[in-house]
Amino acid sequence: MNKIRRNLENILSEIPEGVDLVVAAKTRTAEEILQTINAGVKKIGENYVQESLKVIEKIGDKAQWHFIGHLQTNKVKYVVPVYDMIETVDSIKLAKEIDKQAKKNNKIMPVLIEINSGREPQKFGVMPENTEKLIEEISSLPNIKIMGLMTMGPRFGEPEKARPYFKETKKIFDKIKTANIPNVEMKYLSMGMSNSYKIAIEEGANMVRIGTKIFGKRKYI
Ligand SMILES: *Cc1c(COP(=O)(O)O)cnc(C)c1O
Repeated sequence: MNKIRRNLENILSEIPEGVDLVVAAKTRTAEEILQTINAGVKKIGENYVQESLKVIEKIGDKAQWHFIGHLQTNKVKYVVPVYDMIETVDSIKLAKEIDKQAKKNNKIMPVLIEINSGREPQKFGVMPENTEKLIEEISSLPNIKIMGLMTMGPRFGEPEKARPYFKETKKIFDKIKTANIPNVEMKYLSMGMSNSYKIAIEEGANMVRIGTKIFGKRKYI
């Protein structure tokens, strides 16, 4: 068995039922990604628009495509037609452009709202205290469907240090679920990466995004 398949099977055996794996595939080739799909993976996450369009052209609907990188408004028109979910919506401006492009494509675009749970100024994502207001605003856009929340949390250092950020994001998730906002379905809580997914699952994640632990180290980023 090759390395990718072995890593993947280890991870899949550890992830409880009801938790979806999104394979974080930035910088990986279509051939590498196809190995995970052939081993049973259904969801692939990509960060870079241009790079991913080439890969998606090769692989197509053998997988569901999740956009997990920072999305610039001027690139939305390329993302909406081919992606199945955008996990990184953090402003009304971005949401309005997604809504507009989705309408053009005759589709309703499923999205997650990205929370800056670490409150790090250089990071993307809406601040925890502004999340509910943003969700209420976006919920009135007819061609977007909010389906949950996503957070990165601090990327490096002790995985245990990420726990409070996952806890806070779960709290917001539950609060918004209880608020029952029309056109909002709090179904997915996407948090946890290679070094932190176990902790994220303990704190309520039902979607994890894993790259390095499947493919090995990336050459860049
Ligand atoms: C790259 C990336 C991941 C996966 O990170 P790994 O440490 O390689 O598992 C998860 N989420 C996002 C948003 C990413 O960009």
